[in-house]
Amino acid sequence: MRSETADKIKVTINGKEIEAEPGKTILEVVREHDLDRIPTLCYSPDLDPYGSCFLCVVEVKGRWNLVPACATRLVPGMEVETRNARVVAARKTALELLLSNHYADCVAPCREGCPAGVDAQGYIALSAMGQYGRAVDLIRETNPLPAICGRVCVRKCEVVCRRSDVDKPVGINAVKRFVTDAPGTYDGEPECDPPSGKTVGIVGAGPAGLTAAWFLGRKGHKVVLYEAQERSGGMLRYGIPTYRLPDDVIDAEVDFISRTGAEIQYNVKVGEDVTLDELLRRHDAVFVGTGAWAGKPMRVEGEFETDGVVSGADFLREKVDNQAPMSGTVVVVGGGNTAMDVARTSWRLGADKVIVLYRRTRAEMPADEMEIEDCLDEGIEITELAAPVGIVADKGRLKALRCIRMKLGEPDESGRRRPIPMEGSEYDLPCDLAVASIGQNPVLKGLTSVAGEEVGRTKWSTFIADEETMRTNVDGLFAGGDAVNDGPTVAIDAIRDGRRAARAIHSYVGTFRKALATRST
Ligand code: FAD
Repeated sequence: MRSETADKIKVTINGKEIEAEPGKTILEVVREHDLDRIPTLCYSPDLDPYGSCFLCVVEVKGRWNLVPACATRLVPGMEVETRNARVVAARKTALELLLSNHYADCVAPCREGCPAGVDAQGYIALSAMGQYGRAVDLIRETNPLPAICGRVCVRKCEVVCRRSDVDKPVGINAVKRFVTDAPGTYDGEPECDPPSGKTVGIVGAGPAGLTAAWFLGRKGHKVVLYEAQERSGGMLRYGIPTYRLPDDVIDAEVDFISRTGAEIQYNVKVGEDVTLDELLRRHDAVFVGTGAWAGKPMRVEGEFETDGVVSGADFLREKVDNQAPMSGTVVVVGGGNTAMDVARTSWRLGADKVIVLYRRTRAEMPADEMEIEDCLDEGIEITELAAPVGIVADKGRLKALRCIRMKLGEPDESGRRRPIPMEGSEYDLPCDLAVASIGQNPVLKGLTSVAGEEVGRTKWSTFIADEETMRTNVDGLFAGGDAVNDGPTVAIDAIRDGRRAARAIHSYVGTFRKALATRST
């Protein structure tokens, strides 16, 4: 039988000869024999040694480098020094590196969480140094609408901010707004490559189209945007009310994008005034970013024939030009941002009472929590667990919305609890205007085929586009924003799509033969 001591190995630590169990690390033996207090941040007796913080480094005779005590196992005859000038200096450097900013080797969650990949950490650092212009330039590397996003972005970056582990997320978007509000944001000219000789047509001057225009223009391509409305911005202008996003902010951003050489042709409805085929003949590639402009109906009898029933998208679009005062009771059906915008706009225009009717509870509302709180603060009522089932009209004019009370059942595919109508609970809610704000669908009239080839579409009547390149099944045709795949979402997603499309189009017009040159004219 072998003795216990016979199994042990002899090592020297800080000049003292020690008998240690084989397989143990320097740190374990130093602790067991109380030979020194070696600092460490990453060591845990419950985990395998990782050696990442490098605070526990020690010197081993015969080794040119210092080694982490937590991850280095003792071998017979090893001579270790746990503390000397070199070791202390190395630990100090390791600590300084841990505490310093290290942008180069980490991608912060805020950047990863931003669909457009905006370097929030970088622009916050530049802002902290007072370099506001450089901060804006950095944002524009991935998002050409910084001042717009500074006002209306849904802040996916803040949702994943690590600061929330301590208290609240960093106010990232507020910093973005601050730096874009500083003088000089729109000074100068964007840096663009020399003209490439290629041309790209863009249908729709919303955030998706404008973003594609910015990145393509900077690559030297000639961009022409075809816009159905009199003004640019898409839903940013014709959906989001001016109290949240003033027109002059949109104008300034669009003007800066135009300095890349992008031309905008207004009042041109592609599919009616000019065909997609024609655009594909005129240009080397075409991007479609036509958004989702048709309000979804409530699916109750009489809603299309009754005076006083409108969709949220139509209501807000009309208010861009017609800010006539309102009165009476407005019922807004829905729980998303459009519903909040309709409610708050009605309230501002003088409606006597505004009620938001939502079929689930406030906790399930898709609208930004801040918007919901602002609604309530302003005096707007929210009726939870109720949905419209009919229209009560007199001589074609709305008198009341017939509603039914709901209860919540099991979660549906969206993960939210399904609303279930409570039989016999119908009631009439008297009102003068009912606004259905339950979402929008794309309007693809005249945009669904090219030279007889159908453009692939989903069951929701959105274009099918590759998520990385935004290519459709039609050669040379790309699409993004609210008009594709899962349908309407938010501005920063449209910006992401515009940028992805620009990258793919740049590669397409540069690499591939212009396939459409052979199309018959
Ligand atoms: P759009 O912005 O809809 O732009 C499409 C453009 O294409 C329009 O200018 C349109 O006129 C043009 N067009 C359409 N058809 C044709 C055609 N045939 N020929 C030529 N031009 C055409 N997002 C946020 O991030 N934050 C918010 O706070 C927010 N609030 C919102 C509030 C409301 C009321 C609405 C409706 C949306 C809101 N959104 C918000 C969503 C956001 O506005 C959209 O996701 C975004 O604008 C979609 O961008 P897009 O470029 O795909 O489409």
